[in-house]
Amino acid sequence: MGLEDQGGSGQIQAPAQGAAEQAPAPAKARAGETQLQEQEQIQSQKYAARAGNIKLFRQLDELEPDRRIVQESELLPGFWKRLPGVITTTVQNLVNWGRRNSLWYYPIGTACCAIEGLMAAGATRFDLDRHGMPPWFSPRWCDVMIVAGTVTEKMAPAIKTIYDQMAEPKYVIAVGGCAINGGPFYQGYNVVDGVDKLIPVDVYVPGCPPRPEAVLHGIYMLREKIARAGTRPAPAKR
Ligand code: SF4
Repeated sequence: MGLEDQGGSGQIQAPAQGAAEQAPAPAKARAGETQLQEQEQIQSQKYAARAGNIKLFRQLDELEPDRRIVQESELLPGFWKRLPGVITTTVQNLVNWGRRNSLWYYPIGTACCAIEGLMAAGATRFDLDRHGMPPWFSPRWCDVMIVAGTVTEKMAPAIKTIYDQMAEPKYVIAVGGCAINGGPFYQGYNVVDGVDKLIPVDVYVPGCPPRPEAVLHGIYMLREKIARAGTRPAPAKR
């Protein structure tokens, strides 16, 4: 109804211009907000459905807290709810990501550190396999050599040969005092004072022996180093 009869006078007048816009401003703003919220809700449901997770989202609310944490860890990271399936990165970062998450290691276990640090890190409690790190006894397949234990003059040529057989890029972790600088056998007549006298070392894990947690920490330091490879260095702090 666009036209009105004013007071039965028979005169028909058009409503004042902009009458629709005379609604109170706060009410209009509220209506706009509600509409926006509804749109966002619909959009986020679409994203969740597209990721195949909508059922899981509903179930999460009904779960015990512990189970909920487990199930939440199975979901994609939060930003993928907004941008499902979208990834932006550089090839260098992608390669670094692949390298650092599948570090097959060649174990050089020559003394106590091999059992206390390296084998304990690889066994069930810490389980290096779960970190993408199976032990492998073919140097051509391995990315990282982990030297754990005393390096004797007799062992030195063998270690050097195995290192030379590994393909680039290759990394070395020295585990324990003996592998770092000879440890308790420093300057012993038959001991090499640190495996870095033979091959370049990327990470040193100190201790006599170090705990398996320390070995894991060293591995994660190496991962950080690999993640930065070929990328621009961080700007110097002023
Ligand atoms: S650093 Fe200590 S625990 Fe490790 S190999 Fe040497 S003597 Fe054994």
